[in-house]
Amino acid sequence: MTCVISEMVAQHGTLEEAEAYYSFRGARFAQVDLAADRVGVEMAIPCDKLTGDNKCSLHHTPEKKPLICHRYPVAPDDIETCGFRFS
Ligand code: SF4
Repeated sequence: MTCVISEMVAQHGTLEEAEAYYSFRGARFAQVDLAADRVGVEMAIPCDKLTGDNKCSLHHTPEKKPLICHRYPVAPDDIETCGFRFS
């Protein structure tokens, strides 16, 4: 999600205080853009369709997968555990 930095600072006192508070709740700041007054906040929420060995339980029923899953990834990312590779 994207948050407005000035609103966070008004609520928490400083951006560092806000970051600490959010980190205690399992969220991390991904992209701080002071010029645009926004920060990306990420939470790791595992998909409930993942199997115990990290595979998609919908792989063999692609019609049940959300559209975004068919599109991902559109570009290489930095998720080291992702099994998808660009060739
Ligand atoms: S491909 Fe989609 S549905 Fe399957 S595990 Fe990943 S996020 Fe979940």
